[in-house]
Formats: sequence, structure tokens, C-alpha cells
Amino acid sequence: SLADKLQQTFKKLRGRGKLSESDVADALKEVRMALLEADVNFKVVKDLIAKIKERAIGQEVLESLTPAQHVIKIVNEELTNLMGGTQSRIAIASRPPTVIMLVGLQGAGKTTTAGKLAHLLKRQGKRPLMVAADIYRPAAIKQLEVLGQQLEIPVFTMGQENPVNIAKKAVDQALMMARDIVIIDTAGRLHINEELMNELKSIKQTVKPHEILLVVDAMTGQDAVNVAESFNNDLGIDGIILTKLDGDARGGAALSIKAVTGQPIKFAGMGEKLDALEPFHPDRMASRILGMGDVLSLIEKAESTLNLEKAQEMQKKLRKEEFTLDDFLEQIEQVRKLGPLDQILGMIPGMGKLKQLQGMDIDDKEVKHIIAIIRSMTAKERRDPSILNGSRRKRIALGSGTRVQDVNRLLKQFGEAKKMMKRIQEMQKSGKKPNFKL
Ligand code: GDP
Ligand code: MG
Repeated sequence: SLADKLQQTFKKLRGRGKLSESDVADALKEVRMALLEADVNFKVVKDLIAKIKERAIGQEVLESLTPAQHVIKIVNEELTNLMGGTQSRIAIASRPPTVIMLVGLQGAGKTTTAGKLAHLLKRQGKRPLMVAADIYRPAAIKQLEVLGQQLEIPVFTMGQENPVNIAKKAVDQALMMARDIVIIDTAGRLHINEELMNELKSIKQTVKPHEILLVVDAMTGQDAVNVAESFNNDLGIDGIILTKLDGDARGGAALSIKAVTGQPIKFAGMGEKLDALEPFHPDRMASRILGMGDVLSLIEKAESTLNLEKAQEMQKKLRKEEFTLDDFLEQIEQVRKLGPLDQILGMIPGMGKLKQLQGMDIDDKEVKHIIAIIRSMTAKERRDPSILNGSRRKRIALGSGTRVQDVNRLLKQFGEAKKMMKRIQEMQKSGKKPNFKL
């Protein structure tokens, strides 16, 4: 699956150290393959990869957590954007009733969705009326009537009457009954044809629905995208309801449909039951497709803890050679909030590189010592460690429960860190790529 593929790809990346441009390119090659295999539209994949590449290579990679995590973050964001950013809603008419017309092929889930949508809106305090405008199969009318009984929502029927008339009369009826939402369940066909489109166009012209929602079956993959494109071109639609997402649909339809039609997915059908309709959340869908909830939440955590402003402030201090032991302590404490040291040291700008330095392998116990030692210093000592003579060092060791050697080692590490960071700064300024293999 797409999730597995991406996870494999990123596992590989996570195992390595620094990412070069070609690493990013390799990763994206696999992302591209995985998306195509998930039945995502070819052109959509091409545009997506180009966008991700543009964002991943360059300064953002340098400023990121680990580059691999940054790539995941970008892929996730671009998938979310692709599906329409934030979730969409039904436009409620200023003068009731709001007329919603459900269209789509046979078996897509229109009738079921009519019931689910009516139920959802009823729970929001609306007074829906469902309309049986699929006259070709007597069972279709009955199906809607049964749903109406279950949900205690009225259903407007006129038997085998012309669907255009049914829709028109239904809107009149809604006005008389003070129903504020009209949901028209239309007929589908096995394939798109002119007869179907003409009928739907006539209904549209007559009742002028506020929302024409196309119901498509997520399991049909790329076909769903083609169907959506045709309906949008021929009839014009305002949004999509993607059904059967509870099955093992490959997600390709969800990814491409907005990009190809320009119309948002508004709801997702998550089962056969009448409460199994949810507003569509592109961000959740992206995470689901990536199958990376854990990684994404780690990134969120990292971002909120080590916010960018702080990092920039540190960089500025470094440039002015004002980086003090207080700043050093603050950085270390921020990292510790994130969890086990090994896993996260790579996340802080500069620290991952420091860890690689020989003799600078910092383990968890040592970090606790470092924090204790710096906390035992006075404010003045933290700003200017050069005043730390022998007696001051002895006092600090005593206060922090460490030995003078520990204090000495910390001061040496701090000196190294400062030098190291300054070198990174200079290399970044001169545009040279840092090389940390010492
Ligand atoms: P229509 O021909 O477009 O009106 O489709 P129906 O509403 O009759 O649905 C066709 C079949 O799909 C029925 O068996 C429904 O129970 C099923 N169905 C509809 N929506 C969903 C969904 O979100 N998940 C699942 N698992 N089945 C669904
Ligand atoms: Mg039906």
C-alpha cells in the first residue's frame, strides 16, 4: 500500500544522517511510485512531486528538524493542500429551503447518502425533506421511504412521474411544510450517458439547487476521478461525497479528485449505517494515507517546543558571539522535553552535528549533570564563563552534586559547541556545504 511504501522510504531516510539533494530526489522517486501505484492521477503526481522538491531542497532542509522528518511534513502538507486544505461545508440558502441535489452513477451510494445527510442535518437542528426522484427502479423509491421511516424524516414521492416535475413539486411542498432542506435523490446509470445528463440538467434548470453534490465510490479509484471530471464539465457540481472509505480504498481518488475537478470533497461515507457520514477532513485523510500519525505528532511536538523564533534568536546571538551557558541550558532542556535523547538530538539545529563530534557523545545521565551544573552557576558566571576560577568551579561541583572534572568537561564542551556553531554559521554565510566528517 501507499502507506507501507512511504513508511519504508522514510525508514530508510531516517536511518541515515544528513540528506543531500540526491537523497531528497531518491525519496521523492519512491513517493512518486507509491502515489502512482495508489492510483493517483499521473499529472497530479507530477505537480505534487515538483512542489515538494521545490520546498524540500534548499534552505528549508537546513532549518528543519531532521531532513527526513521535514520531507514527511512537506509531503503531508502538500497532500492536505491537494485535497482542498480545510474542510468544506454545505452552503445554507439565506431563503429556505436549501435545495441539495445528489447525483452519481448507480451503486455509488446516493440513496444511502441522502438518508445519512438528512440525518446529519436533522441532528444539527434542520428540517430536511427527502425526495425520491429515481423513478426507474421502483425499489429505489421504496428504499428511500424505508430510510425516511427509520430516521423519522418525511419523504416526498410521486411514483413514476417525470423527475423534473417531482423535484419542482417537492420544493413547493417543502415551503408549505416549512422544511428548510430539500435533498433530491436522483437516478444513476451504470455509465455516464446523454440521457442521464439531460435529465439531471433539466432538474437543475428547474429547481436551481444550491448544492449539486456528486456521490462517488472511493473503491473505484481513478474511475471515480474520471466520473467526477465528466459530471463537473457536463452538469457542474459544487462538491463531492466520497463513499465507502471504510473499505480498503486506495486513497488515490481522494487525492486526485479535488486537483482534477477543482471541487472539494465535502463528506466521506464511512459505512453502511445511517450515522456513518462525516465531514471530510483533508488533513486527517493525508495522515491516513501516509499512515504516519506517530511521526507527524512527533513533528508537531518538536515544532511547538523548539519554536523557530527561538532558534533564530539563538542564531543571532551566535553571530554576535553572545551565546551563553544560559542559552546552552535552554536548548538542552527543550530537547529533553521531547523524549529519549538519542532519538531527538538530531532534531535541534546544530545539536545533531555536535553529537557526531568525537568525544562529544552526550548520554542521558550526562545531560542531567550538565543541567545541574549550569543551574548551580550564578547569572554572571553563565554569561561569562571566563571568570570561573578554581574556587568557583569547586563550589559549582559541590552545589550540583558533581565533580570538578565534570564542571571542567562541561566548560570544554560549551567552548567546543560555540566554536562549532560559529563554523557552521560561517560556512552557511559563505554558501559552502558543511562537512562534519571529522
Ligand atoms: P445508489 O445506487 O447510488 O443510490 O447507491 P445506494 O445508496 O443504493 O448504495 C449502494 C450500496 O452501497 C448499498 O449496499 C449501500 O449500503 C452501500 N454503501 C453506500 N455508502 C456506503 C459507505 O460509505 N460504506 C459502505 N461500506 N457501503 C456503502
Ligand atoms: Mg439509489
